[in-house]
Amino acid sequence: MNSKIWLSSPHMGGHELDFIHEAFSTNWIAPLGPNVSGFEDDLKHFLKDNKEIAALSSGTAALHLALILLDVGPGDEVICQSKTFSASANPIVYQGATPVFVDSERDTWNMCPIELERAIKDRISKGKTPKAIIAVHLYGMPYKKEEIHAVSKQYNIPIVEDSAEALGSHYKNQKCGTFGELSILSFNGNKIITTSGGGALVTSNKTQKEKAVFLATQAKDKDVAYVHSHIGYNYRMSNIVAGIGRGQMMVLEDHVNKRRANYDYYVSKLSHIKHITFLAEPKDYYSNRWLTCILLDSNKNQEGLRVFLEEDNIETRPLWKPMHQQPVFKDAPSYLNGVSDDLFQRGLCLPSGSNLTTEDLERIVSLIINYFE
Ligand SMILES: *Cc1c(COP(=O)(O)O)cnc(C)c1O
Repeated sequence: MNSKIWLSSPHMGGHELDFIHEAFSTNWIAPLGPNVSGFEDDLKHFLKDNKEIAALSSGTAALHLALILLDVGPGDEVICQSKTFSASANPIVYQGATPVFVDSERDTWNMCPIELERAIKDRISKGKTPKAIIAVHLYGMPYKKEEIHAVSKQYNIPIVEDSAEALGSHYKNQKCGTFGELSILSFNGNKIITTSGGGALVTSNKTQKEKAVFLATQAKDKDVAYVHSHIGYNYRMSNIVAGIGRGQMMVLEDHVNKRRANYDYYVSKLSHIKHITFLAEPKDYYSNRWLTCILLDSNKNQEGLRVFLEEDNIETRPLWKPMHQQPVFKDAPSYLNGVSDDLFQRGLCLPSGSNLTTEDLERIVSLIINYFE
């Protein structure tokens, strides 16, 4: 059997263990400490937008806190991009609210501004103004910021920016992770940088950050007596994994460059095949190319190619199954135009790790060429 090629595997830079050793030698083995604040500072410095960062246990926890900070509760409706990973939508349900799914457009595969406005108007006509909009930069490609934020502004509905897949991407030189009223990042094992598991909430001001940290550390009003007047959560990032994050921040730009080079390599070797198309960056868009995705000309070729590569021990994956197609969300209102269903039928994510070797890439590409010959 050939060696396994993963879709997107962790890629350590080399300095992560130094930070972990430091945590051990100073006995900072806790969900707070110098690595946590150091990692937050690194992220803040990278995003450079006068934002405040709260490092948390996961991107999902960050989304949950974002909805709490926006006062989303039982009976509320929250709009969410349908084409995304389920973690974008689950926290809506944690809050007892209802997700309302909105389809994608073809230029970035993200939330369609036209469908978004149609959804908002229809929800308002049915008696409920949505409480928030969760927009996602899928696979690292920024969503249509100007159009989506114009709709948000017109109807005065705040945006929660799910930038879990898009650290290192930007639009008109503004970094993804700084667009939303609140934004979230993820450092799960398969993301562009990883802390094994972790996430962050990006907020607009210090008070909001302090509130997020308060809720994430069990909402203790007074540390000594443990008085509680809010329901708290155990969502803070541990000082050990934050050490991994500090090491990973040293190689973030390198990871982005490598993933972009993977995309360029696939394009250079495969774009002559008439069964395959790529998602190019529109003008002013810069994707971290977290995953390189291709569109096949049919569902048959999508599944055929996936199985063909799997037989050679190469992992690929269909694009995210849209949330409006998920059994768990079957009753949620959805505003659809057919785009995300079509992308799901024909799209395939190719191995995209920053640690792929030239030999790995050559093996993948030559098999894809073989499949079509
Ligand atoms: C990974 C991911 C999340 C969740 O992040 P975790 O850190 O795994 O909880 C949320 N949204 C999207 C789009 C993701 O890809």
